[in-house]
Parts: sequence; structure tokens; C-alpha cells
Amino acid sequence: MLQQRLDQVEERLAQAASRAGRRREEITLIAVTKKFAASVILEAYQLGVRDFGENYVQEFETKSSDCASLKAARFHLIGHLQSNKTAKALELFQVIQTVDSAKLARRLGEQSSGPLEVMIEVKLSPEESKVGAPPERLPELIEAIRENANLTLTGLMTMPPWSDDPEQTRPYFIRLRKLAEQHGLAQLSMGMSHDLEAAIEEGATRVRVGTALFGPRPKPV
Ligand SMILES: *Cc1c(COP(=O)(O)O)cnc(C)c1O
Repeated sequence: MLQQRLDQVEERLAQAASRAGRRREEITLIAVTKKFAASVILEAYQLGVRDFGENYVQEFETKSSDCASLKAARFHLIGHLQSNKTAKALELFQVIQTVDSAKLARRLGEQSSGPLEVMIEVKLSPEESKVGAPPERLPELIEAIRENANLTLTGLMTMPPWSDDPEQTRPYFIRLRKLAEQHGLAQLSMGMSHDLEAAIEEGATRVRVGTALFGPRPKPV
């Protein structure tokens, strides 16, 4: 089942990349495993998936010991990080994609002992959500991160307002790419199950895919 879905997603990635004149290897598939048991992560790892996205520090903490044997796995935090969870997040994740304030960056820099890869979550639509840095705050935030020797800033991440029509989200992808170009950032984390083609066409280097790989997320009991 998972093998089939993975093949389908791989096919979509390959086709979108080829349509955009890009190589498949430029794009990292991040399997989003929030709400799924650790066994799902192990299964995906067996099939060759190496990058995983989790939204909640506390949730991943409960699964992380089961994942300790997955030596080549990289775990990305893709949900909002509260400042009281930074120390725990540093223990659990190799990449923090959702830095959205200088205060949070400073805290991570102080608590981190080595170079930590971070990305900035950008909020491109004012009404939608409370998380993410507004584009006008980017210059100062980027500077705050870059002057911190413990942090390595690699790119930008965004979560556009939900729409089942990828053409509605495409403008957000274009906007994020332009911001990244403007600031000399190589990595673009954008695109999910339903709109990964549009994201890849607009330059995504990391797509975050949950449902298309694992099916609908289990409802909390
Ligand atoms: C859940 C989630 C995804 C994956 O969404 P799907 O539609 O299941 O592919 C990607 N990014 C973030 C930030 C998420 O929270």
C-alpha cells in the first residue's frame, strides 16, 4: 500500500520536475507523519524515505525513541515552535523549518551546541494564520539568524491559505521564490499533497507530503 502510494508520488515528482525542466534530485520529498504512529515512519524508511516532517514537538517526542535506529533519517519540524519547547526541539529535529521571530532564533542559537539548520516560515497572507514572519520583517530576521554562529539559514517555508485548486496557491509559491532569490536563500519548502506540481514548477526544493503517502490522518480519539 505505502509502496504504491510512494511510487505514485515519485511519479508526480518526476513528471512535475521534467515539465519544469528540473531534475528530480533537486527536490527532497519530506514525508509528513503527524498523527501517525512511529511504525509508519519505520515503514517509509524501509522504502527509502529519509526526510520526515512532524508538526508537534510533544507528539514527536513520544515517537522518537522508536525512530532512534533510523540513522540516516532527517526530521524536520514543520509546525509552529513555541519558545518553551526549543530545547526539546533541538534534541529531536535536524531541521527547524518554522523560525518566525528573532526572539525564537536567538533562543535556538543560545541553546544549540552545533550548527543547526533552520528555515524561516513566511506568512504571505495576512488574514490566514497567526504564525510565520510577515515579508517586511524578513530582512531583520535573516540578519538575526545569520549573525548567530550556531544557526545555518538555508531557506524559506510557507503554508498558503488552503485551497483545493493549486492555481489559487501558485501565486504564493511564486512570491516565496522571489523572496528567497532576493535574499540569496537556496531552499524553498512549499507544496503539499494536492499542489506539489505547482510548487515544483515554481521552484520548490522541498515538498511536504502527508495524505498522498499515508492516506487521511487518523482522527484523534
Ligand atoms: C500536514 C502538513 C503537510 C502535509 O499536508 P498533506 O495535505 O497531508 O500533504 C504539509 N505541511 C504542513 C506544514 C503540514 O502541517
